[in-house]
Amino acid sequence: MEKIHTADGDVLMEVSPLIDFRSKNNIQSALQIVDTPLHAKNKHGQHKDKQVELSPIHDFSAKLRQPSIINTLKEYVRWQVKWRDAYIEGKSIEDILEQAPNHAPLSVNLDVTTACNYCCDHCVDMDILNTGIRYEHEQLKNSLSTLIDRGLRSVIIIGGGEPTVYPGFADIVKHLKARDIQIGVVTNGSRMDRIAEIADVLTKGDWVRLSLDSGDNETFRAMHKPVSKKVTLDWICSQIPDIKKINPDFQIGYSFIVVWRDCEANDTEIIDNTGEIIEAAQRAKQYEFDYISYKPFLTRAEENNAEVVNLTQEEQSIDNILKKIRTSVNKTKQLESEKFSVIESTNLRVLENGSYKDFIDQPSTCHMQYFRQVLSPLGVFNCPVYRHVPQALLGGKHEYEGEELFKETQKNTLRLIEAFDASNECRNVTCLYNHANWLIEDLIRHPEKLDALEVSEERHDYFL
Ligand code: SF4
Ligand code: SF4
Repeated sequence: MEKIHTADGDVLMEVSPLIDFRSKNNIQSALQIVDTPLHAKNKHGQHKDKQVELSPIHDFSAKLRQPSIINTLKEYVRWQVKWRDAYIEGKSIEDILEQAPNHAPLSVNLDVTTACNYCCDHCVDMDILNTGIRYEHEQLKNSLSTLIDRGLRSVIIIGGGEPTVYPGFADIVKHLKARDIQIGVVTNGSRMDRIAEIADVLTKGDWVRLSLDSGDNETFRAMHKPVSKKVTLDWICSQIPDIKKINPDFQIGYSFIVVWRDCEANDTEIIDNTGEIIEAAQRAKQYEFDYISYKPFLTRAEENNAEVVNLTQEEQSIDNILKKIRTSVNKTKQLESEKFSVIESTNLRVLENGSYKDFIDQPSTCHMQYFRQVLSPLGVFNCPVYRHVPQALLGGKHEYEGEELFKETQKNTLRLIEAFDASNECRNVTCLYNHANWLIEDLIRHPEKLDALEVSEERHDYFL
């Protein structure tokens, strides 16, 4: 084991063989198959271009090809080509890091706090909740400013705790909106007063999504165990129409993670909510949510703590469960109107039609780490799937504060992109970035395709 240090001398991590920054695993495997027509077939013999199940919000390769973003993509690809050429000449990645483009991630997940006022059985962040690990508020704002100066376009303020209980929540949102950053907020719904406080600064394209996962008060309280007795599903939902009155421009969503029999997390069986799929949609429409979204339950894989779909049951049993979910979700579609939509996550659809196997076939190199990261009071991480996992750590919590730290964290990012073997680490993850990763890998292997790379329409959607 060897220690890797941050720019200001703190020990960032101890290097295990898995995460040796100087490992040549990725580049060797990339170079060995450099002549393979990558987009022809994956290792299952399926055509990768036929991954058609992606919904527009998950079509990351199209998002990266928007006119306002495509040059960032091209500059990254050109640097990777340079690095692979340098490797053939016997150089180390350290020799070429200074020539890397100077872009911040385009999109980050921001965990503003580790504090939470619920005790959900299914919480994947239970180990770090209410541990007192926190940001220094001004330093966090400075870090965000540095990232914005370097090209950050969107921020999803999300988990690891409940964002709205962070005292500086509204200030962070206002800080970001003053710089025209696109905002998404994922909340447990307990502090809708805090959402009301920021409602007037949110704009078209921004969204707030409430994790409610149930259709009645009893199930809601049993699943989420809010500390305060006044927090019920009725109470939360009743506040939505007033917030819509403040500002109808941004979207408010009702998120329903579908949990079926035998789903477990934290050694506890989670409540089966498949019987409340329809009731939840009726409720969402009644209370003026803009949409309801259904996603399958995720759990942590034992071997590397990655978030994965729970498929522990017999295939037959899973098939029956998915059929029941499908029937209910189809019924909710009848509730759709101009003002209300039903969104099925890509994860749910690919799980159902079996094509999720395409999404677990990752290239060795995960390039999306360059474009989208996680900022948390526990540090900067390479991917939402690995938030708080030591192998995925890129730097300390304030490691983007100022130009000098930014450069060091960016170098760590490029080193980790080289060292992190996604084809192994993410082999059980239904990764929605799979298609984008393969597209980028193909461009690096065939840089002559760069000039002809098709620009997609400008969607003004920068969430990655
Ligand atoms: S609300 Fe979110 S952070 Fe809080 S316990 Fe539940 S899942 Fe965990
Ligand atoms: S391959 Fe997918 S799951 Fe793995 S690190 Fe990259 S984006 Fe995350």
